[in-house]
Amino acid sequence: MKKIPYGRQSIDAKDINEVIKVLKSDWITQGPRIPEFEAALCQYTGAKYAVAVSSGTAALHIACLAAGIKKDDEVITSPITFVASANCILYCGAKPVFADIQKDTVNIDPRQIEKKVNKNTKAVIPVHFAGYPCDLDKIRNIARKHKLIIIEDAAHALGAEYKGSKIGSCKFSDMAIFSFHPVKSITTGEGGAVLTNNKDCYRKLLLLRNHGVTKERAELSGYDGPWYYEMRYLGFNYRITDFQAALGFSQLKKIDKFIKRRRFIASLYDKAFKNNPYFDIPIEKPSIRSAYHLYPIRLKDNLKAKRKRIFEALKAKGLLLQVHYIPVYSQPYYRKLGFKKGICPQAEDYYERVISIPIYCSLNISQLNKIINTILHIFKDFDQI
Ligand SMILES: *Cc1c(COP(=O)(O)O)cnc(C)c1O
Repeated sequence: MKKIPYGRQSIDAKDINEVIKVLKSDWITQGPRIPEFEAALCQYTGAKYAVAVSSGTAALHIACLAAGIKKDDEVITSPITFVASANCILYCGAKPVFADIQKDTVNIDPRQIEKKVNKNTKAVIPVHFAGYPCDLDKIRNIARKHKLIIIEDAAHALGAEYKGSKIGSCKFSDMAIFSFHPVKSITTGEGGAVLTNNKDCYRKLLLLRNHGVTKERAELSGYDGPWYYEMRYLGFNYRITDFQAALGFSQLKKIDKFIKRRRFIASLYDKAFKNNPYFDIPIEKPSIRSAYHLYPIRLKDNLKAKRKRIFEALKAKGLLLQVHYIPVYSQPYYRKLGFKKGICPQAEDYYERVISIPIYCSLNISQLNKIINTILHIFKDFDQI
């Protein structure tokens, strides 16, 4: 079998043509395609404002800065996520606090968030793991009670829905971030965005993306002439290019098709794997529509100790799988900061069982059948060892 990764992009001739058009134009960065892409993100999600940036990580960083997160603040996030969700807290000199996950959804558990709140807690960064929305209603109630800012890490969840609203609408949060890395719902190569409904926050995000510099008359403290600009924050160069925005705009037009395809693949897996004796599959509750960024399976007790060998056997058959994720706080860098094993027992147990199997739009039926049969075969073999 030709090697199959766990995720990859889908780029067609139209996407390529949009990029070429920009490359032949006068603007290749900070041109008209960026605001156009941002407007399309707002239209799709229902948020008022969007700021497109150079990566999802950059989006998290400026979202934390716009939220005013600073030294000695505490910010609560999930341990089962990519390191960027917690690193952005460290970038601000603040302290990441990990709240354990729910066993069924693998998302941060609102009850565990509340247990971790103290007088230094400033914000929560819930992560919609695998494209499955967190319990935003409950998280918002906790945030209101304790005056916390909510920044959704929606890197996996463009196209997901929670209680009838699109993730990214910021109906239950202050900001939401997306990533447009090639394995995510849509891609711009590298890229990301922050969405918000708050105008002041939006202005701050725009400045932080571009060195903290503004030319808006209303924001200036002085005025020397038409060339005049002011640096108001210590910002960054987190700009996205115009040709990436053109690619993003073209990709976003296909988002419904992309999510439909991911959901179709998930439904095939659900059918093939339901009630099997080897592993548990992802769930979906009634008010939720997952974007199925990932399809993580969880080994049952009797196979848990064999995960490494199962992973290797699947790899030998051409399935290049992944484990999402190693709990962030068990990374050496975090251990050096003083985080210890045992902080989040559910997350640690989940990590020992999980394997993500391939899910992306261009997988065809014959590949999917091969994946399903290979997996069932390998598990049967290992069950008997
Ligand atoms: C991909 C990802 C990011 C970071 O996005 P980049 O665009 O790669 O910087 C952040 N959080 C999560 C959960 C991700 O999966």
